[in-house]
Amino acid sequence: MSISYGDKAVVTLRALVATIDGQFATVPPPVALRAAWDEMVQVLALGPAPELRTCPTCGGIGMRAATRCMRCWSSLPLLPPETAAAAAAPAHTP
Ligand SMILES: [Zn+2]
Repeated sequence: MSISYGDKAVVTLRALVATIDGQFATVPPPVALRAAWDEMVQVLALGPAPELRTCPTCGGIGMRAATRCMRCWSSLPLLPPETAAAAAAPAHTP
């Protein structure tokens, strides 16, 4: 079984998960709450955030794979495939 959400909902869910994880890091929750939360995050299966890049011309944010900026339309240099981003993504380990 898999659940899918719209892009906007996924962005919101990722932000919420990050916020709640941040709160849990500051104020450790009871074990049962922590376990339930971890299980819920697994069920959500949001995956890593999409890879983004900043336009060197206008500073706009766009997809990493894009060859043109969606904001100022200047052409963007190709970037090597990013593997560090996946490693840097927030992990949800108990
Ligand atoms: Zn731009």
